[in-house]
Amino acid sequence: MMKGKHIALVVALIILLPTAVKAQPLQLQTVETDGTVYEVVEELEPFTVTTYCPCQKCNGEWTGYPAKNGEPLRAGYTVAVDPNVIPLNTWLYLEGIGIRKACDTGGKVKGQKIDLLIGDCGGMNTYENVRVWVVEGDGNGAD
Ligand SMILES: [Zn+2]
Repeated sequence: MMKGKHIALVVALIILLPTAVKAQPLQLQTVETDGTVYEVVEELEPFTVTTYCPCQKCNGEWTGYPAKNGEPLRAGYTVAVDPNVIPLNTWLYLEGIGIRKACDTGGKVKGQKIDLLIGDCGGMNTYENVRVWVVEGDGNGAD
């Protein structure tokens, strides 16, 4: 009796241990927003996400100009990045925020920072440790 239990315990450990060692954090293969499915290319290191809007206070001398890549500033679409960290025109999925395009740059947007374009200064916010994935996309799911 005792010996049988002992063997069963050893067998259970042999089965369970390699699984525990190999356990990986959940890796996204795709993200879906508004019915559009995006293939995930890679997850980046987490970012601090701040917000800006098209107003003069946020843009200073660049007020009224398009984003760095030539596209108009659009809330729900445009983000500013450090192009040394994320190349311009890269499509991104920001956890809890959605699909955005790296269109713009900014003097304060350096390193692991993303500046999220919003409609006006009323909703200004900072989000820490936001998970960000590079996705293949054409922007149909940007809101
Ligand atoms: Zn503003």
